Amino acid sequence: MVKDPVCGMEINTSAAAAQEEYQGTTWYFCSDSCHGKFQANPAQYAPSETLTDPVCGMEISKDSGHQAEHVGRHYYFCCESCLDKFRAEPGNFV
Ligand SMILES: [Zn+2]
Ligand SMILES: [Zn+2]
Repeated sequence: MVKDPVCGMEINTSAAAAQEEYQGTTWYFCSDSCHGKFQANPAQYAPSETLTDPVCGMEISKDSGHQAEHVGRHYYFCCESCLDKFRAEPGNFV
């Protein structure tokens, strides 16, 4: 059983009306209507996972304004200075 993140209903993955990949997790929905709401604003429904700043190791939330893309992955940073270090030498941190 999994939880529909929109309405909170417990559903069976095989009985789910829809599913969606978001942030590496597959989310299941009881109805197309819940799926539609999720697609409109996934960040509102998916629990915000804790991320680690690859430079200083600090735990940060993904609403951090400091982000970078590196080989298809998204990285988040606590501050501009960590982001700068990462940008200068991304290979050191991944
Ligand atoms: Zn639902
Ligand atoms: Zn940092």
